[in-house]
Amino acid sequence: MLQSLLLKPGKIIIRETKTPDPSKGQLLIKVKAALTCGTDLKAFLRGHPVIPMPGPFGHEFSGVVAKAGKGVRRFKEGDEIMAVHSAPCLKCRYCKKKLYNLCENIMESKILGAFSEYILLPSHIVKQNVFHKPAKLSFEEAALLEPLSCVVHGIEPLDIKKGDTALVIGAGPIGLIHLMLLKEKGAVTAVSDISKGRLATAKKLGADTALKPEKIEKTVKDLTGGIGFDYIFECTGRPEVWESAVWYLRRGGTLVLFGGCPKGSKVTYDTYRLHYDEITLKGSFHFTPQDVKKAYELLRSRRLRTSGLISGSFPLKHIEKAFNRLTKGRGIKYAIIP
Ligand SMILES: [Zn+2]
Ligand SMILES: [Zn+2]
Repeated sequence: MLQSLLLKPGKIIIRETKTPDPSKGQLLIKVKAALTCGTDLKAFLRGHPVIPMPGPFGHEFSGVVAKAGKGVRRFKEGDEIMAVHSAPCLKCRYCKKKLYNLCENIMESKILGAFSEYILLPSHIVKQNVFHKPAKLSFEEAALLEPLSCVVHGIEPLDIKKGDTALVIGAGPIGLIHLMLLKEKGAVTAVSDISKGRLATAKKLGADTALKPEKIEKTVKDLTGGIGFDYIFECTGRPEVWESAVWYLRRGGTLVLFGGCPKGSKVTYDTYRLHYDEITLKGSFHFTPQDVKKAYELLRSRRLRTSGLISGSFPLKHIEKAFNRLTKGRGIKYAIIP
């Protein structure tokens, strides 16, 4: 089979390698669509701690069962499926506390290599996080299951009500998925970004206001009557944005810290702001099987305008072109079609 390898930042090669054979409980999937993601782009630009180089990469995918290992009952050859690339071990101390996204083994046991003709799904993923793809959902949209699960994980516990105000900072793919879920909940939503193109996309996808960062203070006045946002979602992964965002919240508001910053980076907060104004800072990382189910139901219902997130497609052999475009800030996500 053909498989793409990220050799070093900026360099991807396609190699011929042996197609794996599924053993007990495993599924071999013929990839029909795999999507580029912000994490992949970071790895392509400068390397990433959870994507070893040189190595296969790509983790958002959908496809068809090419072969089912012994003992797999829910799926058979030819089934169209959608899946995520990880699942908790169900045995560690965090899994025992039902904090499945924080499972001690979830990162080591995840799989990479969706930018390939085939991908092998281990049994713990097959058992928990693989679904039959609804016929009316395209393979490209079905591959959004993973990023949507991440966003569901951050938003679902918040009890957002119709008319609540929300600011999304950063209109990359993850910021735009936040926007879609917030609109679905009836929130009044502002999106901020430095790129005009991204702001135009946010507006097209239903943002009530799309603005440059320097306009946030004015938007607090216009959209919230000066009181501040009920919720802010930080989707840039920049420490200075983590810090400034707390000033745009209302008292009792919540800042969800979704964008991961470089390891070792530090932030400073005003203690009065956090204490007397009862600000909640909430980290959000990865997802639980429950989040994946919720994301699957959302995609199946087709209530989100997810096709607007996919800017185009490239055959596997031209994968580098997709990343070169993303590097230039062109497009949101690209589908790689093996
Ligand atoms: Zn992703
Ligand atoms: Zn675990």
